[in-house]
Amino acid sequence: MTKAHHIIIVGGGAAGLELATKLGNKLGKKKLAEITLIDSSRTHIWKPLLHEVAAGTLDSSEDQLEYLAQAQWNNFRYRLGRVIGLDRESKELLLEPTLNDEGEEIIPERRFSYDTLVFAVGSLSNDFGIPGVKDHCLFLDSTEQAERFQKNLLNRMLKAHSQSKPIEQGQLHVAIVGAGATGVELAAQLHHVTRLVSAYGLDSIDPAEDIKLHVIEAGPHILPALPQRLSDAAMRELHRLGVTVHLNQRVVEINAAGIVAASGVIIPAAIKVWAAGIKAPEFLKDIAGLETNRINQLVVKRNLQSTRDESIFAIGDCAACPMDDQGNNVPPRAQAAHQQAMTLSRTLVRRLKGEPPLDYTYRDFGSLVAMGHYTTVGNLMGGLAGSMMVSGYIARFVYLTLYKMHQAALYGWPRAILISLLHFLRKGIDPQVKLH
Ligand SMILES: Cc1cc2nc3c(=O)[nH]c(=O)nc-3n(C[C@H](O)[C@H](O)[C@H](O)COP(=O)(O)OP(=O)(O)OC[C@H]3O[C@@H](n4cnc5c(N)ncnc54)[C@H](O)[C@@H]3O)c2cc1C
Repeated sequence: MTKAHHIIIVGGGAAGLELATKLGNKLGKKKLAEITLIDSSRTHIWKPLLHEVAAGTLDSSEDQLEYLAQAQWNNFRYRLGRVIGLDRESKELLLEPTLNDEGEEIIPERRFSYDTLVFAVGSLSNDFGIPGVKDHCLFLDSTEQAERFQKNLLNRMLKAHSQSKPIEQGQLHVAIVGAGATGVELAAQLHHVTRLVSAYGLDSIDPAEDIKLHVIEAGPHILPALPQRLSDAAMRELHRLGVTVHLNQRVVEINAAGIVAASGVIIPAAIKVWAAGIKAPEFLKDIAGLETNRINQLVVKRNLQSTRDESIFAIGDCAACPMDDQGNNVPPRAQAAHQQAMTLSRTLVRRLKGEPPLDYTYRDFGSLVAMGHYTTVGNLMGGLAGSMMVSGYIARFVYLTLYKMHQAALYGWPRAILISLLHFLRKGIDPQVKLH
């Protein structure tokens, strides 16, 4: 009996998990191919929710999906482990040993053979080698980091509330470096939750006086990747909330006391968050002689195939995929991850029949920035209408739809709607913010 074609997907995030689910149901179910998903984590959460986890308005356990269960329901195999190497000659992936919380080995180093390999390992924050970032900043790259941030903020508020001496300048200040969507959304969300937490009994903290939120941006405006009108609308909202935005401030150092900019400006803050720029994981850099760029992304052709190996593909944030003829790449965004997963699922079905891969074209449906519970601003792109600015409830609805689409790709629409209903019902009995 001939061995089934083995497709391995490394990384079960916005792109990889949708791809594994789709291929499991298209190919795995009929035994036309074996599908394996490898992820270094045991559960999946949609990354754009992480700033809500950090702020405490979302309990990650409610929105996490168990890979083992998803694999069982959708005819693919899930293996826990972190990929650290690749042997293209023997077509094998190398996984480091997996340890438990006590540092004991639970799974030894392993190798997996593939016929087709897909990298979908996402991205991490890029510290650009700036001194002090690693030691003094919090990041929002994973659920653990977002939860650490939430605990850190809450503990500082509890300490400030119970201390006998007055609250010091900077003690409860938060400085967010990077005014992209993550930084701006986090600032607005924190404004909301710090007021909520104080209202739950920490009344010796005056949020308006004691908690200052700073956003620091190297460029001349916030949300640099988005249209100017959108940036202006978000800026007005941040001003209204009293968030201090520092523009044209290139950060050169971070220390325990705060942020130091090249201009000499020093912003005192006890809590520092780094949300400026991304890079693909370090292990991808020049992996097995494949072409990678200066931020470690795997360079792929328009059909998502790596430039030097036809059996290796990359999607999502870890892929440098050409978008146009001006040398621009597809942006690292959830909608691109979703679209690439859908295109590649069709390509891999065709591949089994010996048909050529399909080209991927990025379709920008617009951008939405949720400003906490206050408002959502954004622009929608589409057809003859071109770009249309939206805000308030309509924008909020479209923003939520993006996540619903991800859930529908994983569970199907009936279950996605049921989950939303359960969330809605829980809202009535849970506190509005996580308090532990
Ligand atoms: C706080 C935050 C807010 C965001 N908000 C938005 C937004 O509003 N709109 C938007 O469009 N985009 C947003 N993004 C970007 C969006 O989340 C990403 O573009 C998207 O998640 C990319 O999907 P991906 O599948 O490439 O990577 P990810 O979703 O990051 O998944 C990567 C997966 O690979 C796994 N992995 C990594 N390394 C290894 C390894 N060596 N071995 C095995 N597994 C590995 C990880 O555990 C993870 O499960 C946001 C990102 C963040 C961090």
